[in-house]
Amino acid sequence: MKLMRPGVLALPLSPRPQNLPPVLLLEHSRKLLVKYPFAERKNENAQPSDSAMTTSEIDEDEQFYRDTESIAFPKLDDQQLAMLEQLGTRRVVRRGELVSKAGQRNVGLTAVLRGELEVFESRDGREQILATPGPRDFLGDVAQLMGTAALASSRGKAEESEILQIPADRLRQALAELPGVGEPIVRAFIMRRQRLMRDREFAGLRILTPADSRDGRLLDDFLDKNNVPHRLIDFRSEAGRALADRLHLASHDLPALITANGMPLRHPSLREVAHVAGLLKPLTSNEDEEVTCDLAIVGAGPAGLAAAVYAASEGLQTVVLEGYAPGGQAGSSSLIENFFGFPTGISGGELAFRAQLQAYRFGAKFSTPAQALSLALNEGEPRAMLTVEGCHSVLQAKCLIIATGVDYHRLEAEGREDFECAGLYYAATAREGGLCSGSTVVVVGGGNSAGQAAMFLSSCAKKVLLVVRGDGLGKTMSTYLSRRVETKENIEILTNTEIRRMIGGKFLEAVELENTGTHERQRVQTPAVFSMIGAKPRTSWLPPEIELDEKGFIKTGASVANLPVWKAMDRSPGPLETSWPGVFAAGDVRSGSVKRCAAAVGEGGIAVEGVHEVLRTYY
Ligand SMILES: Cc1cc2nc3c(=O)[nH]c(=O)nc-3n(C[C@H](O)[C@H](O)[C@H](O)COP(=O)(O)OP(=O)(O)OC[C@H]3O[C@@H](n4cnc5c(N)ncnc54)[C@H](O)[C@@H]3O)c2cc1C
Repeated sequence: MKLMRPGVLALPLSPRPQNLPPVLLLEHSRKLLVKYPFAERKNENAQPSDSAMTTSEIDEDEQFYRDTESIAFPKLDDQQLAMLEQLGTRRVVRRGELVSKAGQRNVGLTAVLRGELEVFESRDGREQILATPGPRDFLGDVAQLMGTAALASSRGKAEESEILQIPADRLRQALAELPGVGEPIVRAFIMRRQRLMRDREFAGLRILTPADSRDGRLLDDFLDKNNVPHRLIDFRSEAGRALADRLHLASHDLPALITANGMPLRHPSLREVAHVAGLLKPLTSNEDEEVTCDLAIVGAGPAGLAAAVYAASEGLQTVVLEGYAPGGQAGSSSLIENFFGFPTGISGGELAFRAQLQAYRFGAKFSTPAQALSLALNEGEPRAMLTVEGCHSVLQAKCLIIATGVDYHRLEAEGREDFECAGLYYAATAREGGLCSGSTVVVVGGGNSAGQAAMFLSSCAKKVLLVVRGDGLGKTMSTYLSRRVETKENIEILTNTEIRRMIGGKFLEAVELENTGTHERQRVQTPAVFSMIGAKPRTSWLPPEIELDEKGFIKTGASVANLPVWKAMDRSPGPLETSWPGVFAAGDVRSGSVKRCAAAVGEGGIAVEGVHEVLRTYY
């Protein structure tokens, strides 16, 4: 394996590791140039400052790449190659002959048997050689598993090479059914993507946008939450202007998405972006057809993802519809500290990503963004008919799990609408944390979400004001958390207080707070308000046959057992079955659910058990 970027390699920052394995995406030494703070990492304009990276951070980075190398780049042994051989076909490739192309979907797995390949990225008329895999190496990352767009191209490097190509559908089958080969490949794919997400040299998709554009930020957020490697380039920076000139883009064309092949898309919609990234997969090859499946799952938060993993692993033909990005609310959580099995916590995004890969591995089909728009139910059979955003066909499912979660309540503060995504946030992840480092920030709410956000932000903000409508935290926040919040020196708790006004230009600059007891008002300079004040269930798209409680959550189990539809049946509803047999609700959207990740995951699993029962009874 040879590393190919002389400009980078010339920097004598660290010894080059011996036997560096082939990478689809990475070189070792470029990690050592400098490490940006998280919020700037994807920003091509961010200039590294010496102080931005300490020696210990360099060591940490270097250590990470060393520690993960053997996981990311294992060699296939004879037995693994023999297993793969049965699923694929051999091919001889000449020097320069294309094996796969950036942007291509469902690429499958390529293993090198003899000779050498070359993995490369074309950017702005230049080619960057990323890796040169040789015998027993395999190409790819999680894009292969998910069927999303390939991130780089590959071609023959040796005069003649022999490769083994396994088509995408057979690869997924192998990963699920052949643990001896599936496990190291999946682990390698995940690790390669983790290394890539840390990599500032790799471009992937690029968003060219003025830094203060909301549309630009929305594209950034969408790709972030869908785990698509990308880079944000400020139109007003030198690099941004040069790129815009090269692609003949004017300010009215922005934001623009520049694809892996260098094509610009002006003002792309989320669907267009999803299409380019390969997230948007047609439910059927013929749009006039009806699409059928055993189980449709609406919503890919923890409940939907867990249901997808269980259902697909148990052989059910499973389709998952997700309106924005897998992970749901959990995907916005910076650190889930109380999730079973992760003693030091895990970020919601990572948990969701792993779960999604697991579901893919077992064969669940995902489409994003694919909002379920309406549901029709037929008398006398437990079949659900769903209309789906952007799809002309009706999705017919023998059973349905509704896992659509909740929507956040909005603050009743003057000017609030002006600052959505421009200072007003509903999640506190590293991304938002990076936007307000060193400032005073405001967290609104007295529950656990607010407490977690305050604790997290206190590590990057100068000061956190926790604005609570009631007179304390005791009734609404877990004791362990309220103790931490109360004793954290840079968190100030303002009880009996509400935000009355939000003030600023394009971005939030200040808020006006009112003490509801004394009616005294104070103005606080702040770039960010985090709203953590509860939410309403996403059930407005459901038909009247699905009974809701007085707050709009879906009723299940014993609370619907006395309805005529169930009285007429020769069985009782399962614990998560709704007022319509064969339709289940799981997670936050369910009436009486515990609003916790683990609870949502558990409910996803229980709902699948109910689905089996229905399928056994009716099909
Ligand atoms: C900031 C924050 C921190 C949190 N921290 C913790 C914690 O530390 N520990 C913990 O246990 N819990 C935590 N929670 C709560 C936890 O995240 C939720 O309980 C959990 O996400 C609920 O999962 P769910 O799958 O039911 O719903 P959600 O996570 O809300 O997912 C629902 C999904 O459905 C999709 N959807 C909605 N309508 C449609 C439609 N019509 N068509 C297609 N898709 C649709 C949405 O886009 C979304 O992705 C936190 C929540 C937040 C917001």
